Amino acid sequence: MQFPVDAWSGSLTSVAIVSGVPLLVTLLMAQREQWIRRILPQLTAFGAGAVFGAAVAHLIPDALRIGQSPTFVLLGVLSGFAMFWLIERVLAGHDHAHAHGVALGAPSAHSSDSSAAECVHLHPIPANSHAAVARARAIAPMTFLGDALHNLVDGMLIAAGFLAAPSVGLLTMLAVGMHELPREVGTFSLFVHGGIRPMRAVAYNLVTAIIAMLGAMLTLLIGERVVSLAGYLLPVAAGTYLYIAQVVARASLHDRHSDPAHWGRLWWIGAGTAAMLAAAVLA
Ligand SMILES: [Zn+2]
Repeated sequence: MQFPVDAWSGSLTSVAIVSGVPLLVTLLMAQREQWIRRILPQLTAFGAGAVFGAAVAHLIPDALRIGQSPTFVLLGVLSGFAMFWLIERVLAGHDHAHAHGVALGAPSAHSSDSSAAECVHLHPIPANSHAAVARARAIAPMTFLGDALHNLVDGMLIAAGFLAAPSVGLLTMLAVGMHELPREVGTFSLFVHGGIRPMRAVAYNLVTAIIAMLGAMLTLLIGERVVSLAGYLLPVAAGTYLYIAQVVARASLHDRHSDPAHWGRLWWIGAGTAAMLAAAVLA
């Protein structure tokens, strides 16, 4: 069956739809900042589950589907994970040292009583949650990088679908679109959790949507050979999401003093993953 669309208009319209709908939803959410702040612990847990689900139900299976070997996929996942571990070390280590007013590379500052007292003095939170604060700050840039990489490959996959055949393109758009809404709501929550103001978080989502558009254009210009590039990027994107998921999930479950009912967040992590699994099964 022939659809009356060429690869360019089909790809760019599809990317606009799959990015535009979540963008609109997060824009509406950002209008209600008080409400977001109230349910942020649950939303953040949902976001951790959603990026985990995106890695295991979408990015890794897609890499295998377009012909990457399991060994290569494993190596790609590990390199994405290791890359974000390094990035977090750099970002969290930097913020942490500054929060204490000590020189960078002075990890022993914690062991002295005077610096612990200084911590309590500088911030009205227990000294042992400093690491959690520093980690939360590293979440936003990591989420942005992971999201940018993910959207780049989503744009590539949609355009590659339209280059193969309009019907393949539409099916790819459907598959990407199904998981895009829960994932973007999830990453929006992770941005806000990482200290980004809601409207700015929407702007970050807009930038990653433009990156999806660039991924599609690149594919349309280069041709289907770009699929092999997507094959390399998909496992790496999965690794970055797995890293973000475990950081946020652990922070979410360990943050006991602010929420005695923190175990309820396990359900929200499960809901985020379930939404992505459902999208993968339905699409
Ligand atoms: Zn995707």
